[in-house]
Amino acid sequence: MPTAPYSEHEIRDAALAHCEALRAAWGEAVPARLLRRFPCRGEWINLYAQQGVFKPKQLSDTALSLRTTLGSRYQDEVHVDGNTIDYDYAPSDHQNAYVKRAADQNLPLIYLVQVKAKPDPEYMVASPVFVTGWNDRTRKFQVRFEPIAQAAGQVSESNLIEQRYGLRVMRARLHQAHFRREVLAAYRNRCSICELRVRPLLDGAHITPDSADGEPIIQNGLAMCASHHRAFDRKILRVTEDYTVEVDRDQVSAQDRAGKTTLLDHHGQPICLPKDEAQWPDRERLAAV
Ligand SMILES: [Zn+2]
Repeated sequence: MPTAPYSEHEIRDAALAHCEALRAAWGEAVPARLLRRFPCRGEWINLYAQQGVFKPKQLSDTALSLRTTLGSRYQDEVHVDGNTIDYDYAPSDHQNAYVKRAADQNLPLIYLVQVKAKPDPEYMVASPVFVTGWNDRTRKFQVRFEPIAQAAGQVSESNLIEQRYGLRVMRARLHQAHFRREVLAAYRNRCSICELRVRPLLDGAHITPDSADGEPIIQNGLAMCASHHRAFDRKILRVTEDYTVEVDRDQVSAQDRAGKTTLLDHHGQPICLPKDEAQWPDRERLAAV
């Protein structure tokens, strides 16, 4: 039975749903291999390609995604400036016209920020975002979390609150993504407690709360698997100033065999530390927990 051709809105909605599902499952570090294409009525459509601005061939003339890669010449950093994120675009990129058309129509876009380099790159996904303006001289798009229709004319207080909230969340997510990358690199991709090396199960755990605006401080971090991170945050497990594991034994029953291997067996053991002593956890922060 022939099916009706799908609309451009349907493609955009499918892309946004794909991103939302991956973000819910993977947080700030979505593997590129899962992200790169999305299903739409049985067809696989690309979400991004080599260049920073991307329009899949199934869309006629509006962009779908913007991408910032680590170490690329024009887009090596995310600039959160005032109420917008500035996206630097390449001078010869004819794809920029696709972004301007999407902006004119208030279409939601997907913003991808690379947070881990090859091999197995990872991305932080921000969606939906809207391009609400640009400057061809400085070659910057202004990226916001609300469409221009609400930003232009009468700007309501709730729009402003939403925009500020969106940026604050974005800053915190970026910080977390960079923190995790740096901490996991320092600990050579293993849990500092049990040495588990399954990267999707590893977190950058903060020892004490960090300012989302500041640079990630590796000495305020410990690489931990999901179980040990939770146990650390809930004070079932702590790390002493001399880098020894301490477990609150009252929390684990004597009959719990998994509790023994996951927790009790680590009690009194030294943690696994980074090779570089300058990256070892801050003893004062550990004492303060
Ligand atoms: Zn662990």
